[in-house]
Amino acid sequence: MEGLIIKNISNDYIVKSKDKFYNCKARGLFKKNKITPLVGDNVIFDEKNNYILEIKKRKNSLIRPNVSNVDQALIVTSVKEPNLDTYLLDKLLTIISFNNIEPIICFTKIDLLNKEEQKIIEQFINYYKSIGYKVITNENKENFKNIFINKITVLTGQSGAGKSSLINMLDNNLKLQTNEISYALNRGKHTTRHTELYKIMSGYVVDTPGFSQVEFNDMKPSDIRDNMKEMFSNLHSCKYRDCMHIREDNCYVKELVAEEKILKTRYINYKNFIDSIE
Ligand code: ZN
Repeated sequence: MEGLIIKNISNDYIVKSKDKFYNCKARGLFKKNKITPLVGDNVIFDEKNNYILEIKKRKNSLIRPNVSNVDQALIVTSVKEPNLDTYLLDKLLTIISFNNIEPIICFTKIDLLNKEEQKIIEQFINYYKSIGYKVITNENKENFKNIFINKITVLTGQSGAGKSSLINMLDNNLKLQTNEISYALNRGKHTTRHTELYKIMSGYVVDTPGFSQVEFNDMKPSDIRDNMKEMFSNLHSCKYRDCMHIREDNCYVKELVAEEKILKTRYINYKNFIDSIE
C-alpha cells in the first residue's frame, strides 16, 4: 500500500493511507543503507506486517524540522511589536527559495499600526506583491482559504511574530509548538521532541518552526542574487550577463535602486547578504 508518514516518534512511523493510520517500523535495509524515513515521505508499506518497504523520491528534505517534501513556508512577519525586520524577512525569502520551497509572507499585527505607519507598511506589502511574492495578512481566516490545500507547509518567522495565535485562529484544536519555549530548546540542547504533520484546512502543517536560525549555508553570491526576485528578473537588462549589481558599470538594477523602483532596504540587505558570505 501507499501512504504518507505523518508522525515519527523514535523508531515508530505513523503512516496515513486512505484515512487510516498504520504504526510502522522501517525495514532493516534502510538502516544498512543509512536512509532514515522522514515525516513527509511518501512510502510503500506492508500493511499486514507494518513495515515500510520503500521511500518514494523526495522533492526536498529539511534538517530542522526533520521533514521532507515541503511545498511552502509561511513566513510570519510582525509589522509592530516587534517591528518589521526586513533583514530577517529578506534572508528567509532568499534561503527558502534556494531550497525550492515557495515562500509566502504573512504580515501580522497590522491592527497595532497608526494611520501613518499603516501607509508605510502598505508600501512594503505592495512592493513585495509587485515583484512576485505571495503576500497575505492574518486579519481574517478567509485570507488563508486556499493557502494550505494539498500542501505541506512549515511556519517560520521571528519570535513574537504571532505564529501560535495564527495557528489558533486557523484551528483552535491545534496547539503547535511554535512558542518561545521550543525556540529556546532548539538552540542547541538535545530534545526528544517528535515531528508531526497536522491536518489543517485540507493540507498539512509541520508542528515545529523551520528556518528560525538558518544561515546562507552552501550558498554562493550568485545564489543569493538568483533567489531574490528583482535581483534575478532584471539581470538580463544589465550590461554583463553575470552582473552582481555591485561594482559593475551599466547595471540596470543599480539604476532601478537610484530611481527608487527597487526598495532601498531590499538592495541594502542584498549587499549585506553577499558581504556576509564573502
Ligand atoms: Zn546589474
